Amino acid sequence: MKPTILYIEDDPASRRLVQRALNYAGYEVIVAERGIVGIDLARKHQPDLILTDINLPDLSGHEITTALRADERFHNTPIVALTAQGYGVQHDMAIAAGINGYLTKPLDIEKLSEQVAYYLNGGQDIIEPERLVAAKAKYTSEIVARLEARIRELEASNEALHRLDRMKETFIQLTAHELRTPLTLVYGYSRLLEDHPPLRALMQHDDLVSTLLEGLVDSIERMHTVIEEILIISRIMTKQIDLSISPINLGVIVQKVLTNFETALQDRRMNIRFDPAGWPSNMRADADLLRLAISNLIGNAIKYTPDYGTITIWAEEEPDKVRFSIRDTGIGIDRDDQVSIFEEFHTVSDIRLHSTSKTAFGGGGMGLGLPICKGIIQAHGGQIRVESEGCDPERLPGSTFIVTLPLIAQRAPRPSTKRLNL
Ligand code: ADP
Repeated sequence: MKPTILYIEDDPASRRLVQRALNYAGYEVIVAERGIVGIDLARKHQPDLILTDINLPDLSGHEITTALRADERFHNTPIVALTAQGYGVQHDMAIAAGINGYLTKPLDIEKLSEQVAYYLNGGQDIIEPERLVAAKAKYTSEIVARLEARIRELEASNEALHRLDRMKETFIQLTAHELRTPLTLVYGYSRLLEDHPPLRALMQHDDLVSTLLEGLVDSIERMHTVIEEILIISRIMTKQIDLSISPINLGVIVQKVLTNFETALQDRRMNIRFDPAGWPSNMRADADLLRLAISNLIGNAIKYTPDYGTITIWAEEEPDKVRFSIRDTGIGIDRDDQVSIFEEFHTVSDIRLHSTSKTAFGGGGMGLGLPICKGIIQAHGGQIRVESEGCDPERLPGSTFIVTLPLIAQRAPRPSTKRLNL
C-alpha cells in the first residue's frame, strides 16, 4: 500500500506542485489549507507522514505539531516543517515543538521524494541540549503571547456581538411597538366603519362591500397577531417576561380557546374531545399568557391535521402540578425536529409554501408559536415537550404536546437589564 502524506499548506500553487511531485513519487497525498482542517484530517486518516507549512493563517506548523503530539496515535508520526526562512531560531523552535525535521522553501522538487523518504525511515534533525532548552522556553513564551492576543481579540469580538444582539433586540421591539400603535388605530377605524349605519345598510345590499370589509378586518387582525408574537418573543428572548399571577381555572381557559376556534373547527369538520375532568381549580398563574400558549398549541393541532381529524385534550393532576396534553391525528413530527421546533423561527416545511391562514391545513406562521409556548411555560416554572412517531402526511401518526405546570407559579427573578416598557 502507498504511504499516505498529509500536506498542510495555504498557498494553492505550492499545494498543487508538491502534491503532484509526491504523487509522482508514489505517495498518496491528502491536502489541507488550514491548520485546524489539517489536524482534523490527520485524526481521521492517520497519515504516515505530515508535511506542514510553518506560517498558516490559523495555527502555526509548530502548534499543529504540539496538538498532534499530545495524541498517542501521533507520538511517532514523522512531522516535517516547511518554511521560507533559513535555519536558526525557527529551526530550533520547530524541533522544540516536536517536529522531526525542516525543509526550506523554495523546495527542490527533484530532491523532495528523497527527503520525505529520509524522514519516513526514521530520520530526525538533532540539536544540542542547551539550544533545545532555550528553544523550548522561547516557543512556550511565544505560544502564551499568541494565546493572550487571541483571548483579547475574542473578548473584543464577543463584546461587539453582544452589542449587535442588544441593538437587534431593541430594533425588533421598537419596530413592532411603532407598528402596533397605528395598526390599533386602523383596526379601530375598520370596526367603526363596520358599525357605521349607512355602510351597514350598503353591506346588506352589496355582498362585495361586506366581503371587502371582512377581508380588511381579517388582514388587520392577522397583522396584529404577528406583531404581538414578535413583541412577546423578543420579551421571552431577553427574559423580560413579567407574569401577572392570579387565581385561574385552566380548564375554563382551554374551553374559551376552543370557543374562539369554533368556526374554524366547524369549517374543517374537526372533532374535539375535551375531557373536563382532572383540571385543577386552585391554580395561580398568568391567565392571558397561558391562554396564548394554549391557543398556539390548539391552533397548531388544527393547522397540521387534515379535515375530519380529532383533537383530544385532557389533564392529569399530580402533587403540586398539573400535566395536560393536546393530541392530534395530524401529519406528526419527525424525531429529529422534536427539539428544534421549540427554537425561534424554526419551521419544518418551506415557509414559502405556507398559506397565510392560521387555521387552514398546512397554514403557516413564522415559527414563533412553539418558542412562545415554551417561553411562557418555562416562565411559570413548567415544561413542554412533544411525542410523535414521525412525520407522515399519508399515514397521519399525529402528535401529542405535553405540558407540565406547577399549580402555583412563582415569579422568576428578572435580570436587571434596562427594558423598554411595552
Ligand atoms: P408555525 O408558526 O410555523 O406553526 P410553530 O413554532 O408553532 O410555528 O411550530 C413550528 C413547527 O413545528 C411548524 O412549522 C410545524 O412544522 C411543527 N408543528 C408544530 N405543531 C405541530 C403539530 N401539532 N403537528 C405537526 N407539526 C407541528
